[in-house]
Parts: sequence; C-alpha cells; structure tokens
Amino acid sequence: MYDVVIIGAGPGGYNAAIRAGQLGLKAAIIEKRDTKKLGGTCLNVGCIPSKALLHASELYEAALKNFDQLGIRTGGVSLDLKTMLSQKDDAVDGLTKGVEFLMKKNKVETVLGAGEIVAPGKVRVTAADGSTTELETRNIVIATGSEVTPLPGVEIDEKRIISSTGALDIPEVPGHLVIVGGGVIGLELGSVWRRLGAKVTVVEFLDRILPTMDGEVAKQFQRILKKQGVDFRLSAKVTSVATKKSGVAVTIEPAAGGASEAIEATHVLVAIGRRPYTVGLGLEAVGVATDKRGFIVTDRFRTNVKGVWAIGDCVHGPMLAHKAEDDGVACIELMAGKAGHVNYDAVPSVVYTYPEVASVGKTEEQLKEAGVAYKVGKFPFSANSRAKTNHETDGFVKILADAGSDLLLGCHIVGVGAGELIAEAVSVIEFGGSSEDIARTCHAHPTRSEAVRQAAMGVEGWTMQA
Ligand code: FAD
Ligand code: NAD
Repeated sequence: MYDVVIIGAGPGGYNAAIRAGQLGLKAAIIEKRDTKKLGGTCLNVGCIPSKALLHASELYEAALKNFDQLGIRTGGVSLDLKTMLSQKDDAVDGLTKGVEFLMKKNKVETVLGAGEIVAPGKVRVTAADGSTTELETRNIVIATGSEVTPLPGVEIDEKRIISSTGALDIPEVPGHLVIVGGGVIGLELGSVWRRLGAKVTVVEFLDRILPTMDGEVAKQFQRILKKQGVDFRLSAKVTSVATKKSGVAVTIEPAAGGASEAIEATHVLVAIGRRPYTVGLGLEAVGVATDKRGFIVTDRFRTNVKGVWAIGDCVHGPMLAHKAEDDGVACIELMAGKAGHVNYDAVPSVVYTYPEVASVGKTEEQLKEAGVAYKVGKFPFSANSRAKTNHETDGFVKILADAGSDLLLGCHIVGVGAGELIAEAVSVIEFGGSSEDIARTCHAHPTRSEAVRQAAMGVEGWTMQA
C-alpha cells in the first residue's frame, strides 16, 4: 500500500514525488511517455529543448550580426543545424536522466506505463507490452499535464503542418514559416527559426500579441520583433491550410470576417494554446469533476473525490512548469498535514526571446478593470549604463504599486535578462513589500537590475538617472 501514487512525471508530478520522498511518504510515480523519459512536456518537448535552441540560435545570430561591432572577427559563420539539434537532444537527455536519479535518491518507485484510476485508492498501470499492474494507495495525484490545442480543420502531420513538438526538430531551415498564434510558443519558436534564416509570419486572432501580458510591454515587444524581421498579421485568422508538393498554402481572413488571402509557405506552426490532458485516466468512472474546458476542478488541489488530488497544467492557473512544481509541493505538504500554499499572484511568466519579456503580478489592464488606484514607475534600458555598454538598450521596466499603500502589485519588463531580473519583484510581492522597498535597496553597479530600482523610484517621482 502506497501513501501516494502520482500519475504523470512532468514538473508537477516529479516535484510532488520528491517532496513526498522527503516527507517520508511511500510514493510511486507513473509515466507513459514511450521514450521512457521522465520530466514530462517541459523536459522532453517544452521548456528545455526550446531554450536549448533559443540559446544556440541567439549566439548564431550574434556571431553573424553583432560580433563585428564588438571588434570580434570570426571569418565565415555558418549554420550546422544537425549539431544544433543534437546538442538540444543532449540537454534533454541529461536532464531527464537527472529526474530518474532524483526519483531513486528520494526512494520514489517509478512505474512505466499508462495509469488509470479504476477506483479511489486503486490505479491500474498498462505497460507498453500490454501487461498490467495494480497499485493500491491512500492518495492519488493526477499530474497528467496538457496537450496542443488543435486548430479545427487543420491536421498536424509534424512535417509541414507542425505543433511545437515538430518545430523543435525541423530538419532544414524553413523557407517561410507561418505561425498561427502570437503567444509564447509562436514568438519563442518563431524567433529560433527566424534567427536561423526563415521568413516568419505570425497570424494572431486578436489585435495584439501575448494577450496575458501588460499591453504596453506587448506593444513595444512587437515593435522590437518587427525590427528583427518578424511579419505580423494581427486581427486575422487562418481558415484553411492545404498541403502542396513543396509546401503549404495558408488561407487567412480578417478575424471579423471579410476577404480571404492566400499565403504561400513551407511550414505552418499551430500554436493557439494548450488544453488539459486527461485521456484514458478513468475520471468519469470514478466521478472526478472537470469543467467545460476539461480542466480538473480542484479546491486546494483536492478533487471532488476523496483521496484524489490534481496539480499542474491539468488544473486551473497558468500553464507553466514552475507553477506545476509549486502545486506539487503544496499538494503533498497538505496531504502530509502541513500548510502547503501557492501564491498565484507571485508566479512569474517569462518569454525567452531576444530581448526577453518577463512579468509578475497584475498588469495595468487588470488593475484598471478591477478599479484599483495605482501608481506607475518606468525606466528605459536606453538609460541603464550596463545595457548601453553592451549595446542592448531595447526595452524598459515598469513597476505598478498601490496608490495608497505602495504595495507592489506588478512588475513588467521587456529587455535583455528580463527573466532573471523579474525574480527581485517576485520576492518583493511574495513578502508583501512595496515599491519603496525596491527603490531603497542597494543594487550593484553596473547591472541591469539598476533599471528595476530606477523604475521603482519612479513610482514616487524620484527616478534619478533618466
Ligand atoms: P506535463 O509536463 O505535461 O507532464 C505530464 C506527464 O504526464 C507527461 O509526461 C505525460 O506523458 C504523462 N501522462 C499523461 N497521462 C498519463 C497517464 N494516464 N499515465 C501516465 N502518465 C501520463 N513552461 C515554463 O514554465 N517555462 C518555459 O520555458 C516553457 N516552455 C515551453 C515550451 C513549449 C514548446 C511547451 C509546449 C511548453 C512550455 N512550457 C513552459 C509549459 C510547461 O511545459 C508546462 O507548463 C509543464 O510541463 C506542465 O507540467 P505538468 O507536470 O503539469 O505536465
Ligand atoms: P498562448 O495561449 O500563449 O498563445 C496562443 C495565442 O494564439 C493567443 O495569442 C491567442 O489569441 C491566439 N489564437 C488562438 N486561437 C487562434 C486562431 N484560431 N488563430 C490565430 N490566433 C489564435 O499559447 P501557446 O503559445 O500555444 O502556448 C501554450 C502554453 O504553453 C502557454 O499558455 C504557456 O503557458 C506555455 N508556454 C510557456 C512558455 C514560457 O513560459 N516561456 C513557453 C512556451 C509555452
């Protein structure tokens, strides 16, 4: 009899498993991925491989376009795509093996196969060869993650019409990559292939990109991407994609309806979001409630069925690896009688492009809608000494604070290193701190973090260096 059986070994599941091991619970984790690799979407076909390609392609573009300006002569720079893709696979291999090690270290049993809840406290695992095992447990944690949302009428073949998974492994640089969806995946993977030489067109249904990010940040970021050569078709939808001998014909029309237009491309990436994945889990049989969109309904990770818990992408909240991880830790702590908790106002979100976009807390649009009186402080990287020295001046920092109490409500950054800079604002929000706490904290010089401080000073009107 296990204390807990976790279904799904992504960041939600494997971190829950580690915490269970640390707290002395007898735990097993089930994973059905046929590559037998733990780590879920994130390690296998998400965060890690995409960042490996973003890193390598960023260096490639810098070598092509920026080294000269720094006085670095390299001779001819050329792309070895095969090696770039295989170093990405090496990164994935290394990290997935790391998760295997962590399971052993924390005495968590790994069971390979598809898990199905046959009754509360009973999970059947069907292995790839069809054999089955039944595990008895006091608690079950569903951590089965998410899958690509399909675009009606457009069939993904992972060759010409691809999802993010196919976009991590295109064997030759696309001539013209059309991306459906101006969200995180479209902009990250679009950046990779544009840097490597593809023409990239982003077709976005709304009149803006990155709909969950602060509007001003998204606008400036779009301008920067445009300058880099990405073509945007906003307020537009893809109505059909036809595969041809040498590529695809993409038909788009205005989102509000109107005349259609054909775009010739070599590849189409469908990146219009992800949806919860709970296929074959037996939810209906045991009566676990889901909402209209298929998310498992939870209250502090508990489903409506006693002893069945759920975390990560298959429940509400941002579909992010670190959110899944925090869900996993808090869920196990509650199970073990501790005070597990996740502050969803302090979950950062980062787009790993060049420059990066990072955000935590409320956007200006959200504060306006909620009728919260707020103050804004802003600081451009063009006035930050480190950014200027490095010729990386695109972007700015924006701080939002409560007009009465000065409580830090949000921080939004577009700029090089934004993904690291945001951690300071996350900590301050977590501690219930104010914009003045940042403004009066000593920041090292010359660093980009000084831009965060200067923006915080701006909340009370005493920005000093712009
Ligand atoms: P998953 O990681 O999806 O793991 C669920 C696991 O459960 C899978 O391995 C699946 O095989 C397994 N499973 C499903 N059903 C069963 C079953 N019945 N039995 C056994 N096993 C089962 N997030 C970030 O925070 N930062 C990023 O940079 C980032 N980049 C991304 C890039 C891409 C291209 C994509 C697609 C996603 C990215 N994400 C990123 C999102 C991130 O990958 C997810 O939020 C995260 O993986 C969710 O974790 P999870 O544990 O809930 O689910
Ligand atoms: P997304 O929700 O970020 O963006 C989807 C975009 O597609 C939206 O802008 C939406 O308006 C648009 N859209 C929807 N239907 C459309 C249509 N028919 N035609 C044109 N546009 C349409 O989704 P995503 O980019 O697919 O990413 C999925 C999830 O994966 C994200 O929610 C994110 O949480 C996670 N992810 C995170 C990271 C990261 O943290 N860096 C990276 C990649 C993915």
